[in-house]
Amino acid sequence: MERSVPVEINHMREKGLVRVTWDDGHVGEYSRKYLRGYCPCAMCQGHGGSVKFIEVEDSELAEISAVGNYAIQFQWKDGHNTGIYTFDYLRALCPCSACKDAEDS
Ligand SMILES: [Zn+2]
Ligand SMILES: [Zn+2]
Repeated sequence: MERSVPVEINHMREKGLVRVTWDDGHVGEYSRKYLRGYCPCAMCQGHGGSVKFIEVEDSELAEISAVGNYAIQFQWKDGHNTGIYTFDYLRALCPCSACKDAEDS
């Protein structure tokens, strides 16, 4: 699959959603709890194999910043900011039904 790059990341604060628009036109809406739960950092995920969803206290998203040209970093209000979400990782996390269906088949 072609590597996709986000062209727009829109934090919809009132809804608690982050909308990511990809360069292939795909749009994914990630709830902040979902994003936080899939934080890829070693503190959250440990060093086990597969990525798992972590239940955390609902946390406000404070800031979104780009890391080089390959990843996005989310800064949470509780101070957690060690998760680096590569574009590939973020795209694989896309919770929309089209992506979920593709995954199941
Ligand atoms: Zn983390
Ligand atoms: Zn999707």
